[in-house]
Amino acid sequence: MKKILLLGSTGSIGVNTLNVVREFPDEFEVEAITANSNVGLLLDQINEFNPKFAVIRDKSKKAELQELVGAKCKILSGDEGLIEVTKYCEYDILLSALVGFAGLAPTIEGIKRGKRIALANKETLVVAGELVIDLCKKHNAELLPVDSEHSAIFQALIGESQKEIRRIILTASGGPFLNTSKDEFDSVTVEQALDHPNWSMGSKITIDSASMMNKGLEVIEAHWLFNLGRDKIDVVIHPQSIIHSMVEFCDSSIKAQLSVPDMKLPIQYALSYPNRFTSNFIQTDFVKIGSLTFFEPDLNKFKCLQLAFDAMQEGGTAPCILNAANEIAVDKFLKGEIKFSYIPKMISHAIESINNHKSPDLETIFECDRQTRDFATKFKFGEEV
Ligand code: NAD
Ligand code: MG
Repeated sequence: MKKILLLGSTGSIGVNTLNVVREFPDEFEVEAITANSNVGLLLDQINEFNPKFAVIRDKSKKAELQELVGAKCKILSGDEGLIEVTKYCEYDILLSALVGFAGLAPTIEGIKRGKRIALANKETLVVAGELVIDLCKKHNAELLPVDSEHSAIFQALIGESQKEIRRIILTASGGPFLNTSKDEFDSVTVEQALDHPNWSMGSKITIDSASMMNKGLEVIEAHWLFNLGRDKIDVVIHPQSIIHSMVEFCDSSIKAQLSVPDMKLPIQYALSYPNRFTSNFIQTDFVKIGSLTFFEPDLNKFKCLQLAFDAMQEGGTAPCILNAANEIAVDKFLKGEIKFSYIPKMISHAIESINNHKSPDLETIFECDRQTRDFATKFKFGEEV
């Protein structure tokens, strides 16, 4: 029986993780769950999975929730509640599924305890990849990707040697704007951007998929996870999202992992690894799928992907600036405050304006995130662009 601490249980990955746990009651037990503010769903999850601890980040809701659950579950709150539960509660696997930079601090606490980290929160590796990988080595923590592309590459690399990798090929659906012209990026709506053709996900990653920043963040995630440089990382558009990614080896052989798009599969694998658990909830019918197609990504249209490649090459705090500016830009776009086409403009302006620190420590990364958020929040379009 493995005990799970699930950070972000009310989100898209969180709910899917609990769907997996529900299928395997003899394998997994939920020790603690956390949510930002959704008391209703958190309460339902507490009642069904009986965790010993739950964290509601919104402090104003703590007393109400504690009263509703009674003594069977201890309720903590705030950012310090998240850290406390990660530092002190008893678990084997930390499933890190907060969204954005907020995932970094608690994930690091899990790493310091040498736990298995099932990582959905790609931003952790984007902003602090070098540090996080070093900490995993130091504390003997196991880092298992939940992101479907990285899970595919991880699976393709089993039994292979790092030095025989020619390149990895990350597949991208192309999102809802694959066939939308760049000129229309000034007028696309939030609803159109949230209408992802293949995946149902949280709103931040869905907008990132529409701008292809998601693929950019995944390129940086792959760079750290698999220790590969820019010359060994390619991106190809594959609109059906059946091939989740591929590895090409030095003999020109290519290994891929395939299935219909369903996050339960990579989540389950990160929990069951090195084993595979029998499951019937995912069925791939190739005859029904019919054909698999591939295109070159248009880096001139999807500027966010180019910006991410550049930030990775530049290193230091550049990916942290990229990430923080993107989080603010996406938030503003979702609130209807800026046009979709302003997202990359805001990011490149932040990268040009904020100092890059090489080999940053954790404190520098937190400071860089704060500084960039402040910069991007105050940024006024029309003057600088
Ligand atoms: P989501 O928005 O659906 O869920 C986020 C979860 O984190 C929720 O439980 C929310 O309550 C909590 N949360 C949000 N902000 C918080 C904060 N500041 N402090 C504490 N808790 C907070 O997001 P998601 O789509 O589940 O994505 C989670 C992570 O997984 C992201 O990093 C995303 O890139 C990655 N990911 C998601 C998918 C997917 O299919 N959804 C696929 C691959 C990777
Ligand atoms: Mg992905």
